[in-house]
Amino acid sequence: MATLKEIARKYKIYIIIAGLLILLVAIISMGKGKKPEAVQPADSSSDCRAVMVINYHKVDTVFHSLSVRPEDFEKHMQWLKKHGYNSITPDQLYDFVTTGAGLPDNPVLITFDDGYADNYNNAYPIMQKYGFVGTIFVVTSYLDKYPNYMTWEQAKELEANGFSIESHTATHKSMTEASDAQIVEELTKSKETLKEKLGKDSKFVAYPTGTYNLHIAQLAKDAGYKAAFTIKYDAVNRNSNVFALERVPIFHTEDTNKDFLERIQYLPLMNKDGWVKK
Ligand SMILES: [Zn+2]
Repeated sequence: MATLKEIARKYKIYIIIAGLLILLVAIISMGKGKKPEAVQPADSSSDCRAVMVINYHKVDTVFHSLSVRPEDFEKHMQWLKKHGYNSITPDQLYDFVTTGAGLPDNPVLITFDDGYADNYNNAYPIMQKYGFVGTIFVVTSYLDKYPNYMTWEQAKELEANGFSIESHTATHKSMTEASDAQIVEELTKSKETLKEKLGKDSKFVAYPTGTYNLHIAQLAKDAGYKAAFTIKYDAVNRNSNVFALERVPIFHTEDTNKDFLERIQYLPLMNKDGWVKK
């Protein structure tokens, strides 16, 4: 009867071959899981970063959920600066989503809706201090009309200093409740006013109250916009629909700063490795 030692000697070569095969399979499958960075270093389409688009409304001391206090707003800007964030423009975001164009490290798009005077008076100086630019979606018929909204002169100054002034429609009508004719008028009128007042061809719109549907998105496209922003809470990545871009709304709460941190720090986890949008 063969001893264990004899069996081992007899099958030694097979055992070695089997071991080598297992090792080979393991190496191949490990290689498959890895991103082929060394092979395709310049392939920007593999950029699966999630880009944060923050959305504010008012920056003042009024006790209202849409109002973030200037000192809280400054803490947010400070935090972004400290963590190496770089503010980008809507054009940069659009190019990234549609063509995979490069973005700076830790990109962030800082947006404001409605066009309140406090954006100019309170948010703008703070953002300048930290070297950030922002995007303000204005209700075009409100400027130069209501005292709590910006003037066109202020909008012009912001544009001249790197900010982007874009459309939030002409009168802030909820689009899901408006007729097609009204929606088209809201979209085109605001575009025309921006052209007239700032000499710019605005290509971006933020849906009033964030509500939209595929039909409204198509009307925005037909009106000459190339992208539109919602208030769907998520980060933008290369799977985003450019007519339904996600944002992170920041409101005044019992603990605005804690909520700010939770909202923006949770996002990268949600979007890790190119979360596929539905
Ligand atoms: Zn609004």
